[in-house]
Amino acid sequence: MPENAVSQRIPVAQPSFGGNELRYVSECVTTGWVSSNGAFIKKFEDNFASYCGTKYGIAVSNGTVSLHLCMLALDIGPGDEVIVPTFTYVAAVAAILYAGAKPVFMESETRTWNLDPAKIETVITKKTKAIMAVHTYGHPVDMDPLLAVAKKHGLHVIEDAAEAHGATYKGKRVGGFGIVSSFSFFGNKTVTCGEGGMVMTNDPALNEKIRLLKGQGMDPKRRYWHPVVGYNYRMTNIAAALGLAQMEQIDQFLNYRHTMAARYDKLFADLRDKVDTPLVEPWATHSFWMYSVALKDSVKISRDAVIDALEARGIETRPFFFPAHVMPPYREFGHGSYPLAEKISARGINLPSFVGISEEQQVRVVEALKKLL
Ligand SMILES: *Cc1c(COP(=O)(O)O)cnc(C)c1O
Repeated sequence: MPENAVSQRIPVAQPSFGGNELRYVSECVTTGWVSSNGAFIKKFEDNFASYCGTKYGIAVSNGTVSLHLCMLALDIGPGDEVIVPTFTYVAAVAAILYAGAKPVFMESETRTWNLDPAKIETVITKKTKAIMAVHTYGHPVDMDPLLAVAKKHGLHVIEDAAEAHGATYKGKRVGGFGIVSSFSFFGNKTVTCGEGGMVMTNDPALNEKIRLLKGQGMDPKRRYWHPVVGYNYRMTNIAAALGLAQMEQIDQFLNYRHTMAARYDKLFADLRDKVDTPLVEPWATHSFWMYSVALKDSVKISRDAVIDALEARGIETRPFFFPAHVMPPYREFGHGSYPLAEKISARGINLPSFVGISEEQQVRVVEALKKLL
């Protein structure tokens, strides 16, 4: 490819490091605090917990182990069932299997593409222990009906908020609804540490238990005494330094993402007979981690052909996740059918979504789509 074509390529995501990132990271290097002790860890935990409105935040090495810790904290294990949307990122399902429990897949609803709270009761059994609410692509799950069902049946609620930093449900930030909640700070997430994650909770006993498990199970009061089998799921001080610098900019990040979404909404105005654009429920604010569209039935060109054609024009996009129940390790847990999840998955495209994307770049994306459709 000629050099100018490469430089004009629009990525689907990219981090934004315009704040104190370099300063804080070089502080780690110059002071020698590069591992999982160091001042930035607690600062980042406290900052993020207060942002989410929770008492505790436990920093860990990524969003997948964070979900594993959520399972372990609640003693979820063999013989237990956890309700999870089939249309989700695979880590949410894998974490249930790490714990030896069984994922029970839920159908999506067509408005927000999240799990359909109205259908939860149909899959509850005597073995159900928890419901995992995944706020897909940044739109919160309708939490009130979900919390009501959980309460009625004595189930735990876990939030996987990896895609929804700063999104709100009825005015309250996600991450504070579950007994435990999980975030990711992977490189393409709204707030990034490179790799990182955090478990949120209001429960002091769960906070201690999660800290014990993430730190090799070592008794905090007795060095090298390990009362339980733990894990090394710790975050480094370097990652926390990045995370703290990112949190200083989160309001700007979210504002930019809302500007980006409003621009896309406008650019799509005369394409609404061809694509569904993100809907925001009146009770929600979206974090627009990924501005995502779904091709309508009337569009005859395949989703994958659209993605390839955009790629050829220097526009990187992503297909939606496959529903978990169609993939080899998870097939056996499918029961019944999930036509809505399958349809969303087959027709969805995540468009370039990042802080700093220019209006001109967005015009290029939508014009290219228009020509194809
Ligand atoms: C990114 C993501 C994760 C996993 O996070 P990692 O930090 O990449 O391990 C989990 N769940 C969802 C919904 C995600 O989007």
